[in-house]
Amino acid sequence: MSYIEFKNIHKRFGDAHVLRGIDLHIEQGEFVTLLGPSGCGKSTLLRCFSGLETVSEGEIYLDGVNITNFTPKQRKIGMVFQQYSLFPNMTVRQNVAFGLQIQKKEKSYIEEKVKEVLDIVGLSEKINQYPRQLSGGQQQRVALARAIVMEPKVLLLDEPLSAIDALLRRNLQIEIRKIQQKLKITAIFVTHDQEEAMVMSDTIHLFNVGQIEQSGSPEEIYACPKTKFAANFIGHYN
Ligand code: ADP
Ligand code: MG
Repeated sequence: MSYIEFKNIHKRFGDAHVLRGIDLHIEQGEFVTLLGPSGCGKSTLLRCFSGLETVSEGEIYLDGVNITNFTPKQRKIGMVFQQYSLFPNMTVRQNVAFGLQIQKKEKSYIEEKVKEVLDIVGLSEKINQYPRQLSGGQQQRVALARAIVMEPKVLLLDEPLSAIDALLRRNLQIEIRKIQQKLKITAIFVTHDQEEAMVMSDTIHLFNVGQIEQSGSPEEIYACPKTKFAANFIGHYN
């Protein structure tokens, strides 16, 4: 069994059949990208995995356990979103420490852990700053630190770089990948940007309206798009 398995996942919102039978296997430590145009169901699949949405049909396994009906908390999954969802009235330290405080971890543990993750994301010197004093890219690093400080089993990244300008974005792509490899954490990254998917992923799962059109390494998908949709979306016209 793979570390993560989605088995025949369907999701309906009323009459809208948003996920139409998703079967996906993800190995431990893999960096997987869900790539596809806007509205095809990428965020919905992440939300089903994290427990923010229920599935209409199908099962989800994580580390051999059927988590389909688990609460978000029981799943131990960390998330970073496109919008920096930091608390504006808290410092970087307080933002990153927040989840651990909720868990009532010891003060000394929290202090050490917060320093450790801020070091990993390269923001140690910003520990006492407020979000508004940071750039967009720095805020996303804080969001990343806040997710990894909880030591999640899986890190979900939903278009975390979409609001960041092109130059910084490339740096952050490389940096996120380095951090993921350093922590050996399993990551599911969502983007509509083909180039970003190519640069970052071990495996790309190309989405087309609620279904997976093609899965493979960036090289495989680029060299051998199996459908016209894949060819067009990857920007490789035959
Ligand atoms: P993506 O992340 O690929 O852009 P989403 O998963 O956000 O796509 O959305 C897929 C489809 O599901 C869209 O048509 C969207 O309007 C619809 N959708 C998402 N969430 C809801 C909801 N809570 N209620 C109704 N429709 C929704
Ligand atoms: Mg989305």
